[in-house]
Amino acid sequence: MEYNEEDYLMISGLQHYFFCRRQWALIHIEQLWTENVLTVQGKHLHERADDPFIREKRSSLYTVRALPVKSHEFQITGVCDIVEFSEDKEGVYIPKLEGTFRIRPVEYKRGKPKREAVDEVQLAAQVLCLEEMFAADIEEASFYYAEPKRREHIQIDQALRSQVKTVIDEMHAMFKRRHTPTVRTGPHCRACSLRNECLPKLMKTETAESYIERNLS
Ligand code: SF4
Repeated sequence: MEYNEEDYLMISGLQHYFFCRRQWALIHIEQLWTENVLTVQGKHLHERADDPFIREKRSSLYTVRALPVKSHEFQITGVCDIVEFSEDKEGVYIPKLEGTFRIRPVEYKRGKPKREAVDEVQLAAQVLCLEEMFAADIEEASFYYAEPKRREHIQIDQALRSQVKTVIDEMHAMFKRRHTPTVRTGPHCRACSLRNECLPKLMKTETAESYIERNLS
């Protein structure tokens, strides 16, 4: 089967899609991008995790950072912040590590342990990729929160798997049609890095900020 990997969806785009479908389409279909404080902070936090050359081994645990992943079945691609391979007789054989291992992706999150639904969907999408790449079963994944330095584990159950597959199908359908949804302003627009690009016609008469404030008051 032939794959056109240029059309694979970026797993990181799930954040944009859940935040605002129009924002996702502007970034991933129309290729617009503007940085704001949140995106810069996020990049800074990921700096160490995004160094693909860092690999650690402690006892029976390998830690691989910035591991590129993809799934041909779901046509998605991305980079896992951290993937842990822990030796386990019941695990899957990893030729490069010459042993059997249990696999766990760990996602870095800035700020406090406060999660939104998209965070789990994004982690589940990473799991789908890792399962396909390593022919493994992964039942659990983790978040690492910068404040305080703490881990939380989540189960990758059937409900979460179904949710991520449904969302990925919706995104593929929009991407195939090159469809950008119309503007629907809401409180989230205040934190949107693309508000000036999103509302170009309004810019002739007023700023995006005043338009958003006026429509929210
Ligand atoms: S300004 Fe609002 S409607 Fe426009 S892309 Fe951003 S969040 Fe979406």
